[in-house]
Amino acid sequence: MLSFEEEGKFTPAAGAAAAVLARAPSAPHDNDRTEADGYQRVRIDDKRIINSKADVNQLVPFKYKWAWEKYIAACANHWMPQEINMSRDIALWKDRNGLTEDERRVVRRNLGFFVTADSLAANNIVLGTYRHITAPECRQYLLRQAFEEAIHTHAYQYIVESLDLDEGEVFNAYHEIPSIREKDEFLIPFIHTLTDPHFATGTLENDQKLLRSLIVFSCLMEGLFFYVGFAQILALGRQNKMTGAAEQYMYILRDESMHCNFGIDLVNQIKQENPSLWTTQFREEIQHLFRRAVELEYRYAEDTMPRGVLGLNAPMFKEYLRYIANRRCQQIGLDTLYPGANNPFPWMSEMIDLKKERNFFETRVIEYQTGGALNWE
Ligand code: FE
Repeated sequence: MLSFEEEGKFTPAAGAAAAVLARAPSAPHDNDRTEADGYQRVRIDDKRIINSKADVNQLVPFKYKWAWEKYIAACANHWMPQEINMSRDIALWKDRNGLTEDERRVVRRNLGFFVTADSLAANNIVLGTYRHITAPECRQYLLRQAFEEAIHTHAYQYIVESLDLDEGEVFNAYHEIPSIREKDEFLIPFIHTLTDPHFATGTLENDQKLLRSLIVFSCLMEGLFFYVGFAQILALGRQNKMTGAAEQYMYILRDESMHCNFGIDLVNQIKQENPSLWTTQFREEIQHLFRRAVELEYRYAEDTMPRGVLGLNAPMFKEYLRYIANRRCQQIGLDTLYPGANNPFPWMSEMIDLKKERNFFETRVIEYQTGGALNWE
């Protein structure tokens, strides 16, 4: 029997000694290939985010420590939708007087956007971005991110199922509801660029195409288009309505703010390694895309909240979107577009602030086992 629960067999000192032993180079056997044969092991300087010639299968030596650290942090944040109790939401949704028609419209429209959005995000990573990123640390994070997109799709589906909504209506909203369809029609060409099997980086034009798509994905899709929707459901939760859905969205918001930050780090690292991509014309083009995204998201806010609801209204979102767009511009080194825009929802920033998330974790239903319990018999 091998039990990892037996204590005292593995002390830190013994661990350190074992690590030293493990690092001692062993003498090569006669047939082993060595660097003396002209072969070169991966060196830190060989690693590049795009167009690297170094072996993508060798995670170490680490060059992009920030990506590895985000991978570790994302794993520590692991959660599953079915851990969250939806019974209060179900009772409220069934109660005819539980929610106003406007509040129900917010929930339906909101899910109408999100049930397919994270699937688009997953396709973008798995079928596109992953192939073009040559830093193994970043690929490791992208694998984790892809699973998180699956968890988010699962969470939205779980809410739809719990509330017994019309699945056909919700899952087809991105074809049928103009304010949702227009957002997806804006995004899809940038996803197609990366998922096209004939697309390859290595020229100025194509490297710019990749960078443009990465900016659209991280700053405009995950970093802007998601935020009206998050604010709406979290506003419901703040009024003690749809608290299960709101808790799901808090977990999703936490994941998505990390996706957005990872994407921004990726963009900035590519810029640093390939400064020729960041031309004046390219920057102007990106700013134009930012303006277009703000317009589209504002139209979605107007459509989902034709009248004021939950203490929110579309004009407040106009200000919020301008504030977020400015922040995304700053994060990737662009001039801001909307001088003086303020944040009308400071509580949203609090929810994103990782230091404050301990409170929110205390509501967790199930604790995961995190090792120490393996038992081979
Ligand atoms: Fe995401």
